[in-house]
Amino acid sequence: MDRILRGLSRFQKRIYPKHRDLFQKLALGQRPQALFITCADSRIDPCMLTQTKPGELFICRIVGNIVPPYPDAIGGVSATIEYAVGVLGVADVIVCGHTDCGVMKGVLNPEPLEPLSSVSAWLNYAQPALEAAEALTRNPAGDLLPALTERNVVEQIGNLRTHPTVAGRLEQGDLKLHGWVYDLGEGVVTHYDAGQDAFVALETPVARS
Ligand SMILES: [Zn+2]
Repeated sequence: MDRILRGLSRFQKRIYPKHRDLFQKLALGQRPQALFITCADSRIDPCMLTQTKPGELFICRIVGNIVPPYPDAIGGVSATIEYAVGVLGVADVIVCGHTDCGVMKGVLNPEPLEPLSSVSAWLNYAQPALEAAEALTRNPAGDLLPALTERNVVEQIGNLRTHPTVAGRLEQGDLKLHGWVYDLGEGVVTHYDAGQDAFVALETPVARS
């Protein structure tokens, strides 16, 4: 905790004064560009990854970046989606999975998690992704984790479409859904290409230094 409090002190003394105008503008309201749904894993920093500032991403952190289909499990995830898509009017929703995900490993090896009833119940939402990954992975002895991680993102995008606010905005044609997988060790992001039904390199504009 000391480390965290020292960080807060440094933020208040050094960082806040440098960005006072931004924070004072943000105090009056927000207009985020996107809803970013990703795993609660401590190794993911959505703002560092996308180089966005406070106020630009509306972030939903949830283990396994799982979006229960509507109207299952009405709760924090559904409310966050409704607020971001229905009230704030974000233009894009990104579901971002990641490599070495403990939740995806738990789907492959659920036994140690069985005493944790909430986690076990939550993992059920990744079962269709497991079935899809098994069908896609031709070598039965092959590593299922990468395919499961990708299919889980595809599955959760499908679940997002069942939420009425999302369905309505998609029908109006002013909302886009994106599926990403972030490779933690390499800093690489692949995205889901529905035409190819595969994850491919994400084309990014040339970064200005
Ligand atoms: Zn994870």
